[in-house]
Amino acid sequence: MKTKIAVAKGDGIGPEIMDAVLRIFDANDVQLEYEFVEMGKSYFDAGHSTGMTAAAKEAIEKYGILFKGPMETPKGKGVKSINVTARKVWNTYANQRDFRTLNGVDTVFSKAGIPINLTIVRENIEDTYGGIEHLLTYDVAVGRRIITRPGSEQVIRYAFEMVRRKGYKKLACGHKANIMKLTDGLFLEVFQQVAKEYPDIEASDIIVDDLCMKLVSKPQSFEAIVLTNLQGDIVSDLCAGLVGGLGFAPSANIGDNISIFEAVHGTAPDIAGRGIANPTALLLSGIGMLRFLGHSANAASIENALLYTLEQGAHTGDFGANSASPALGTTAFADAIIANIGKKPADGGVFASDDFTTDHHRTPIKNKLTLTGAHVVEEMIGVDVFVESNVQPDELAAVAKKSLRFNDNFELVMISNRGTQVWPTGSIYTELVNEYRIRFEKKPGTDIKQKEILHIAADLSEAVKVCSVEFLMNFDGKIGYTLAQGQ
Ligand code: NAD
Repeated sequence: MKTKIAVAKGDGIGPEIMDAVLRIFDANDVQLEYEFVEMGKSYFDAGHSTGMTAAAKEAIEKYGILFKGPMETPKGKGVKSINVTARKVWNTYANQRDFRTLNGVDTVFSKAGIPINLTIVRENIEDTYGGIEHLLTYDVAVGRRIITRPGSEQVIRYAFEMVRRKGYKKLACGHKANIMKLTDGLFLEVFQQVAKEYPDIEASDIIVDDLCMKLVSKPQSFEAIVLTNLQGDIVSDLCAGLVGGLGFAPSANIGDNISIFEAVHGTAPDIAGRGIANPTALLLSGIGMLRFLGHSANAASIENALLYTLEQGAHTGDFGANSASPALGTTAFADAIIANIGKKPADGGVFASDDFTTDHHRTPIKNKLTLTGAHVVEEMIGVDVFVESNVQPDELAAVAKKSLRFNDNFELVMISNRGTQVWPTGSIYTELVNEYRIRFEKKPGTDIKQKEILHIAADLSEAVKVCSVEFLMNFDGKIGYTLAQGQ
């Protein structure tokens, strides 16, 4: 029986490379049935602010699989990226990107005889991709970075399972927990907890800047790396560079109910419509999708044909500059792969083996809500009030103290500017912008209500513009907020 999937060809080079890949699939008698859906730039232009038609949404939710070409989000129209929206709305929490040396694709490392075979698993929903940003004053923009315990656990558990499935031995967690102690700190804490359930896998952690240095100097020392969303985005493009560029970087966005397979690269507007785009990244993504759906014999046969074709020196214009043969267009490159179906590369190629179960699609009956902290004791101990002000720290402290005149339960403990303490102590060399954080904490032994805290902010608002408010919480006696630099 054929597996039904939704296919969106995308914008720019999307239709060219999707047609090439589907022709290769057809030549291999792949048992998929496609429903072509309408998504991308033209649907934004037609007034669908989500970038897709209702029929597209229905088909994707019905089949649970979207195979997509790259899509352009119109700039300057205030609409959100269709690519990011699709990943978030359908909760495809793990973005898996496999990078490996391909014979016939010359890189600095292949020339040095150093093979690369590593997988990046990037958290795909949270982090700064929540897109929650505000201009608090004309001079100061802030963005919320959301890292959650359930979200981290989902992607980290996926990464450990993926490592087992692939027969790898190691998983590293890339992070910046030395600076972002609560957000990246939470991601790392969850990684270390989940690692205990996988004693057969060597789990380690590495600060992301050190990781980048080691990836360009010794990439062969890594097998799999799990990262938060933005860091994973940047590190995975770095890895694409290690194996020959974006033309060779496939990606799978895996969720519990819906999964999306696409290339890492974009619509390549500079070469769109010229018939010269490299379809390899989308083909590799499609091969990953076939394995995911249990069509592993087709996946192995197509992968072997691709590897053989590359090994023979066939190439599109974006690689193989030193090759004796001229660059092929997208169609001719696909024809070369089709002609090589049944052939295997020199190392014997890959074999059919199921990477995944076929149980990829379930329909939830309500929005899933995950809670993990039922046993944790919470205590509210104060508030950070962010205000707009042009005055010096001492003057602002006097204003802040005045706002406490009706409330004896609190004291003013600190004022910071751009995260650096400027009151009660600070440095005259610290330069200021017009947004301060004023920290009030309850006095020891007092019992306070949230309403009282909001009253402090309300009283303060009579003297200065209050931009936002964040409560200070303790969880099981551990502080749930950071100290200011210099505090
Ligand atoms: P891009 O990946 O489209 O192009 C970067 C460079 O790589 C260009 O020089 C391009 O010609 C080349 N390139 C990319 N894919 C290629 C291929 N298959 N064969 C040969 N050369 C290839 O990145 P960009 O220019 O920053 O973005 C263009 C558009 O794509 C933007 O609208 C962006 O939002 C969108 N985009 C979409 C996705 C997605 O759909 N998942 C991802 C990234 C960017």
